[in-house]
Amino acid sequence: MNKEVRVRFAPSPTGALHIGGVRTALYNYLFAKKNNGKMILRIEDTDQTRFVPGAEEYLMESLEWVGIVPDESPIKGGEYGPYRQSERKNIYAGYAQQLIDSGHAYYAFDTSEELDAMRERLKAAKVDSLQYNAITRMQMKNSITLSEDEVKSRLDSGDPYVIRIKVPRKEEVRLNDMIRGWVMVHSSAMDDKVLMKSDGMPTYHLANIVDDHLMKITHVIRGEEWLPSAPLHVLLYKYLGWEDTMPQFAHLPLLLKPDGNGKLSKRDGDKLGFPVFPITGQFPGKDGAMENFSGFREAGYLPDAFLNFLAFLGWNPGTEEEIFSMEGLIEAFTVDRIGKSGTKFDIDKAKWYNQQYLKTKADADLAKFIKPYLTPEHIQYDDKKLNAICAELKERITFPRDLWNEGQFFFVTPTAYDEQIVSKKWNEVAVSVLDKFANKISPDIDADSARATLNEVLEAQGVKMGQVMQALRLSLTGKGSGPDLMEIIAILGSEETKKRIKNAIEKLPVKMEN
Ligand code: GLU
Repeated sequence: MNKEVRVRFAPSPTGALHIGGVRTALYNYLFAKKNNGKMILRIEDTDQTRFVPGAEEYLMESLEWVGIVPDESPIKGGEYGPYRQSERKNIYAGYAQQLIDSGHAYYAFDTSEELDAMRERLKAAKVDSLQYNAITRMQMKNSITLSEDEVKSRLDSGDPYVIRIKVPRKEEVRLNDMIRGWVMVHSSAMDDKVLMKSDGMPTYHLANIVDDHLMKITHVIRGEEWLPSAPLHVLLYKYLGWEDTMPQFAHLPLLLKPDGNGKLSKRDGDKLGFPVFPITGQFPGKDGAMENFSGFREAGYLPDAFLNFLAFLGWNPGTEEEIFSMEGLIEAFTVDRIGKSGTKFDIDKAKWYNQQYLKTKADADLAKFIKPYLTPEHIQYDDKKLNAICAELKERITFPRDLWNEGQFFFVTPTAYDEQIVSKKWNEVAVSVLDKFANKISPDIDADSARATLNEVLEAQGVKMGQVMQALRLSLTGKGSGPDLMEIIAILGSEETKKRIKNAIEKLPVKMEN
């Protein structure tokens, strides 16, 4: 490739950014960086009726959280700005005019009633596609059917009109998609889509093509839902004389529901209890009322874990390796390893990634997640011990909040005890060993000396370790499972250990052996 690679992520700010959109942004970014190119963020906000306040800010924050940093954007600027289509309004009309002048577009004056009537006629005639096309356009009010004078007088008197592309009646439109290979559509199946609306604003189709051209976009990587529009875009490139620099297309397969049946939606997430959006936000939902769009960030996913999970939703490196940083992904990424079929969304995989990334975090970084929970009423530890607590917990957590949920007992002397363990394991033998152990532990206890002392007591009493371990854990943590017991004792220290054992002995009735 000798031309600089330039790709764009071109969202419309209509609400929260679905995880599929974040994946599109990521694949664009990876492709750009892999090829030493640029990734552009362009805000496609020509449809003012769908504009949602705050959506653009939400988008930017989402990308930033994942670590996707566009080279050119509305905020950063760049050589090809402005990067918001609403700020480029005056650019598009000239291109629509060019298409009219060359006979590839025309004015259409039909009212919405007339359009409805046309569709009704087609329905009554049992025509499958209710399109404005080479055949139906001949029965409508447009600059093809009306006389030149009438068109002129309508335009002069300010009659509302749209500009439509004139799709040829019989032509095969082809494009070579980087993921799907050759895609062919017959023009008879295509609509004379509106390019300029009656409010003077371009539609998505025109603005998108004009901007991709002016911004020197070389590759269009976008969701599969845009594949049906691609043939129209190919025609526009051709009619505007830009065929030689037409970008290459890559349409990404859908993200599917966990059971593989259909596209992953917000409802699936709400129903099954997992996020479908990068970060939490409030936006109008389908019926216009404000809704909560819950995010991975707020659910406790680390950005690097989310990134890694996201990259693998439809792509794989072709090796067994699963853990990739952004640099690693850039290095490994190629479009030919993007799957052709939809990817099932698997939240357990996201959790697994979170576990992997939490495990590799430095203890001191994990300690930062515990500190906000701590108050003066809690048992206080120095940083060294806090780090040691995190080291013990890190294999057992999925989310940062689990550090507190799993490790609370370090900070609060237990007052309640798992009843099942009490009834199964709290007996005379255990109590007698624990009591002696508590009396014997040295003030400067560590994990090794704790084990040695416990062994001495066990030997003297002729009792096996397995008979007392759970009782000991119960007395120290209130629970039946958790991190290494000797490490817990070392962290709690001899005083607290003693206190907890004596507490439990005092509180818990002993089951008499019979
Ligand atoms: N504005 C379109 C969207 O919201 C962009 C589609 C494209 O990338 O061409 O996804």
